Amino acid sequence: MTHEPQQFASDNYAGICPEAWAAMEVSNVGHAPAYGEDEWTQRAADAFRTLFESECEVFFAFNGTAANSLALAALGQSYHSVICSSSAHVETDECGAPEFFSNGSKLLVASSADGKLTPQAIRALATSRSDIHFPKPRAVTITQPTETGQVYSIEEIQAISATCRALGLKLHMDGARFAQACAHLGCGPADITWRAGVDVLCFGGTKNGMAVGEAILFFDPKLAEDFDYRCKQAGQLASKMRFLAAPWVGMLESGAWLRNAEHANGCAARLAAAIADVPQVAPMFPVEANAVFLSAPAPLLDDLRARGWRFYTFIGGGARFMFAWDADPARVDALAADIRAAAQATQMSEAA
Ligand SMILES: *Cc1c(COP(=O)(O)O)cnc(C)c1O
Repeated sequence: MTHEPQQFASDNYAGICPEAWAAMEVSNVGHAPAYGEDEWTQRAADAFRTLFESECEVFFAFNGTAANSLALAALGQSYHSVICSSSAHVETDECGAPEFFSNGSKLLVASSADGKLTPQAIRALATSRSDIHFPKPRAVTITQPTETGQVYSIEEIQAISATCRALGLKLHMDGARFAQACAHLGCGPADITWRAGVDVLCFGGTKNGMAVGEAILFFDPKLAEDFDYRCKQAGQLASKMRFLAAPWVGMLESGAWLRNAEHANGCAARLAAAIADVPQVAPMFPVEANAVFLSAPAPLLDDLRARGWRFYTFIGGGARFMFAWDADPARVDALAADIRAAAQATQMSEAA
């Protein structure tokens, strides 16, 4: 089979990183108890507790949609509501799963220019109504980093959690790219989660070099009550759990989770720097994690596609480039060169 040249349309185009793969291979020797009663699952959960310096409760799900939906469902009743940003994955990309798994909890959407929620926006939504006809606000979900690659600072998260506590709201973090946020901030995972007031985190493995799998961490054990039943009912209890857990052992114990994210972020910064002076092309958002969104005239983007590059334009019509753990710097440079060439070509055809 021939391999296609690397594309940056999605960080999910990448394969499995060596550390995750090696751990799966080791775990593939012999038999092990099923449904999470095995040593790999215990070891992965312990690795999370060590990394987060917390006696958190740890669960494993197959993907982020399930992890987010089930975590949010655990925070309230069906008549409760969850505050999120207008560009939140739970609102735009989960096909109603958060509402489905919570038996109808409504998402209350705060419009947000940069995808971040603010204490003001949360307070405005949470206090807009207090009568019985409105679904009672119970939780807030923030995405770290946001869908467009912005990272909440420690102070921003602290301010949000203080507002949540004042209003009696639980705080959930969608960390599909949580490692990339840690890499950007250079802080410990605890600093932007429980120490900053986050109650539950969905920590993404898939976009950080695993084949499949997200971890759900409850920093308040009371919130995790019966969560194992919730996972099972939703079809998220892996019978051969060791194969969801072992790659986490490989990622966490080796430090690959952070190295992978640093590399991915570095490639995004590399592209942004390489095209900073190209006319007609401008970053739509600050490049802080592993994403670069570029606004450019449609003919330029067509030209770039004709040069063989794949990318999505579902956010504001800009071109999205996502960098994975194995992004090849030479391919990043080739993309930058083609963006420059496409800009020149479209400028010349405009002048003609
Ligand atoms: C990718 C992603 C998820 C998880 O998506 P799945 O396809 O369900 O694994 C969740 N949140 C954000 C912000 C994402 O980018």
